[in-house]
Amino acid sequence: MSIQRILVTGGAGFLGSHLCDRLVSQGQDVICLDNFFTSQKSNVAHLLNKPNFELIRHDVTHPIYLEVDQIYNLACPAAPGHYQYNPIKTMKTSVLGAINTLGMAKRCGAKIFQASTSEVYGDPEVHPQPETYRGAVNTIGPRACYDEGKRAAETLFFDYHRRNGVNIRLGRIFNTYGPRMHPFDGRVVSNFIRQALANEPITIFGDGTQSRSFCYVDDLIDAMLAHMNAPDDCTGPINMGNADEFSMNELAELIVELTDSKSTIVHAPLPEDDPKQRRPDLTLAKNMLGWQPRVPLREGLKRTVEYFKAVDLDTFRAPTPNY
Ligand code: NAD
Ligand code: UDP
Repeated sequence: MSIQRILVTGGAGFLGSHLCDRLVSQGQDVICLDNFFTSQKSNVAHLLNKPNFELIRHDVTHPIYLEVDQIYNLACPAAPGHYQYNPIKTMKTSVLGAINTLGMAKRCGAKIFQASTSEVYGDPEVHPQPETYRGAVNTIGPRACYDEGKRAAETLFFDYHRRNGVNIRLGRIFNTYGPRMHPFDGRVVSNFIRQALANEPITIFGDGTQSRSFCYVDDLIDAMLAHMNAPDDCTGPINMGNADEFSMNELAELIVELTDSKSTIVHAPLPEDDPKQRRPDLTLAKNMLGWQPRVPLREGLKRTVEYFKAVDLDTFRAPTPNY
């Protein structure tokens, strides 16, 4: 296959930077676009001297004209604390970002992957969640800016596909973790590891019986690449994640063990609309992409703990109100 010109929006973020790493190492011509709302240049600093990597500071809510063969649209704050920080901007990023990148895909004849989310299922009444499940989202709750923004983006992807023949791929990503998560994003894995390493109390929201299924970042990047390179009728939506389900109590216990921490557990109120359980049905991913996650939680957490031990927390800043 010839070298592809590939745009990664949100390319400096947690998932985006790992995706850029993989594409650059494949020899592709990679453009990373980011406004650094929830990330920083340090995530991709090691790529800046590569001849096949280019970094653009830009906001996806504004149009941009580039000539590309493939687009991965990842730009969007993903952690609840980040996306609730400026909820109106979150909705704009999902909707206008989708319109601008889909317009580019249409003009260039490019293939486009959308980073959708398990949040389109809301607080699910069906367990595990197959792609056919239509979800239970509170349209007016604090998570709606993200959930409904991503749902609207899915709609736009399918309308551009049906009306304009755009070659789309829709991946519904479940909780993913690993090195380069923002240490202050408030997500459960980063919070617990940071707290455990500092021997500070671990904050379990609610009684800790709510569950999530955690996917290691390398597995998730494999899924995205497999989807982009799958046959053209493989539009999705396709769930991407790991089907091993854990309660937050179990997660806290495991992280305390792996970090040999002296942390105690404290309970804080459960945030509004916090989903009670979440686990992907991965049948479609296995059948359509021949993909399955490989890294067990214990192993992935060990690698993530090593990353958090090595970073200087003072070099990270929280999102600013300017966005
Ligand atoms: P992240 O916050 O680390 O990355 C998002 C990136 O997008 C950041 O670099 C941020 O600066 C950038 N960004 C935000 N708004 C932007 C804008 N208006 N213009 C340009 N860039 C902008 O989060 P992540 O975990 O890497 O998530 C990446 C994508 O995957 C997101 O779209 C997210 O919704 C999706 N996703 C992630 C998970 C997960 O568990 N990590 C789960 C489901 C979906
Ligand atoms: N959570 C927690 N303590 C924390 C952060 C999160 O108990 O310090 C819980 C949160 O209430 C949720 C789960 O962990 O039930 C996953 O939260 P996260 O923000 O990582 O992702 P999401 O809710 O979007 O799946």
